[in-house]
Amino acid sequence: MGVQTSASGTPGAVADVLSTPVAALRGIGREREMQLSRLHVHTLLDLLLHRPRRHEDRRHSLRIRSLRLEVPGTIRGVVRAMGVRTLKKGGKCVFELVVEDASGRLTCRWWNMAFMQGYFRVGDDVFVYGKPTSIRPICLDHPEVEVIEPGVEASVHLNRIVPVYPLTEGLPQRWLRSFLWQRVAEFAGLIPEPWPELDRSAELSRPEAVRRLHFPEAMEEVEQGRRRLATDEFVALQLELRRRRRSLEANARGLPCSGDNRFIKPLLRKLGFTLTDGQTAVLREIRRDMGAAHPMRRLLQGDVGCGKTVVAACSALMALESGFSVAVMAPTEILAEQHFKQFQLWCDGLPVSLAMQTGSQKKRSTDVHQPTLYVGTHALIEEAFSMERLGLVIIDEQHKFGVGQREALLKKGRYPHLLVMTATPIPRTLGLTLYGDLDVSVIQQMPHGRGGLKTFVRGVDRLPKVWEFLRSKLEEGRQAYVVYPRIEEGGKPGLKSVMQEMERLRKALAPHVVGLVHGKLSAEDKQAAIDGFRAGRIEVLLATTVIEVGVDVPNASVMVIESAEQFGLAQLHQLRGRIGRGAHESFCILVGDLESGEAQERLEILEKTRDGFEIAEADLRMRGPGELIGKDQSGVPNFKFADLRTDLALVNHARGLADRILDAREG
Ligand code: ADP
Ligand code: MG
Repeated sequence: MGVQTSASGTPGAVADVLSTPVAALRGIGREREMQLSRLHVHTLLDLLLHRPRRHEDRRHSLRIRSLRLEVPGTIRGVVRAMGVRTLKKGGKCVFELVVEDASGRLTCRWWNMAFMQGYFRVGDDVFVYGKPTSIRPICLDHPEVEVIEPGVEASVHLNRIVPVYPLTEGLPQRWLRSFLWQRVAEFAGLIPEPWPELDRSAELSRPEAVRRLHFPEAMEEVEQGRRRLATDEFVALQLELRRRRRSLEANARGLPCSGDNRFIKPLLRKLGFTLTDGQTAVLREIRRDMGAAHPMRRLLQGDVGCGKTVVAACSALMALESGFSVAVMAPTEILAEQHFKQFQLWCDGLPVSLAMQTGSQKKRSTDVHQPTLYVGTHALIEEAFSMERLGLVIIDEQHKFGVGQREALLKKGRYPHLLVMTATPIPRTLGLTLYGDLDVSVIQQMPHGRGGLKTFVRGVDRLPKVWEFLRSKLEEGRQAYVVYPRIEEGGKPGLKSVMQEMERLRKALAPHVVGLVHGKLSAEDKQAAIDGFRAGRIEVLLATTVIEVGVDVPNASVMVIESAEQFGLAQLHQLRGRIGRGAHESFCILVGDLESGEAQERLEILEKTRDGFEIAEADLRMRGPGELIGKDQSGVPNFKFADLRTDLALVNHARGLADRILDAREG
């Protein structure tokens, strides 16, 4: 093994070695350098951290006869025949390789890759990894095949667990594996502990983690190595989040915004309902935060319909009572407008002025000398727009914004308090990663007096029945949403669009009035449609996901979502949160292409549960974090080893370590 170093060694020199460009390493020419750089491997350290895609246990390969249909496996055999056939149709060709072991034969096939024949010779000893697409005869399409060459290096590639790396054109698996074998032996020992002030003797060392990641003695070792490296990725991120938080606490005084109840009392009388215990508890936390020495940084999580708006309003009033202005930012004009109207009603008679700031509307009521409640979209963060005495920033549907936008709005004041709200129930691992610098409040409970909400999954063939049902509900006086994934036709076939369906639906539901709202309408047209729906003039609202957030019409009790398989579960859950808000029983019908049983299985989760957290966990498991946090969300780190789906324990551990590092630094 290479030189052992410790934290007390010579970190400078070590860092130099590890940052050596790969081009300077023995055995790397111009061509290899380019190939490695396509894999984002530029330095020796990048190389040591090049993560294997999988491992193959070559101490035990399968026999050809025991391969199962569609189940991946590795076999070892000898090439018996090979050749290129040209197919009659479309001038395609297929290269076939026949491989045999003592138990039988299989055929590997590659389409339009005739050049592959240059890679093999009859008589070659090969490993084949893939999953059979047919079993009699056994065929594997585009498998991974590696020729075994006897020689000094055989011990790297044979009779052990071998790593299989992501490759790029022209870079052979064998070459990369041999190269890593040598470099790991030579240099892994140089990898330093990033935070030498911590005692981590209970964990694997980083050098050992890297060795296990590449060349484990047992399969479990790969995961052990990964966990150590993942922990360090989490520590780096948590360190940044915790440092930001501590520096805020060290540098910023909290503005006195806890109020004295004189605006809130009349509001509570006006509401027509009493706050739930959950709402009251959160308001108590917020009041404490806004009277504390440091600015509040709080995330309020609560499922759709739990009543976050009134919590926002009461928080705003605390700041307004204290003589400070408040900014409320929402992701869409529709939602901003709705909040504005709601707050206007709630603030009626109070000495508070209201201002609206969106792309299409800029207005301000009455007295400029009073503290102001600003409501708007991201137009609030435009350079030219400014606010006086900003005490509190509230961001609704925060997952629709990036961290940058959040910070930009905060910069409109001098360390105002921050309340961000989201209905997307973020699983804990993800929450700690994205919002590790925030305190979290959760509203668990729904307000009383809600009718139930039932969800059904139906295939497209059942649509006539669905429309019949919808019509019967309209006849009872209810209203309905019909949601499509797209505005116009085009793109994937079979994907329905609002434009295409509008006329059909008007006819099918006549004489009931059908309205339309989607993202490409002008702000006035959008608003007119929503107002018409809210007033009951429009009975059925055809919509894209613009209605996903916020819209609150209690009489709407039916929602039909077409091409439902196109949406993430969390998003569908959010959409159906538009109904079930009144006293009537509500129905959400998910219509989709259920041909693939997978879509059906996924959608049925929504039939079974209304627990947003459970749904979000399922989404995270099945579709990854991108789906949950939305593409607009910046600040999702690019982890190489950490996995947000499984690593909750590691995040928690990393948080503890980050705090210890900061404590040590502050001495
Ligand atoms: P969300 O948390 O999804 O933003 P909203 O704030 O839009 O939910 O609230 C949903 C509906 O519930 C609104 O019509 C609101 O007036 C009503 N609501 C909020 N709190 C209560 C409560 N404590 N009791 C009864 N209804 C409530
Ligand atoms: Mg809301």
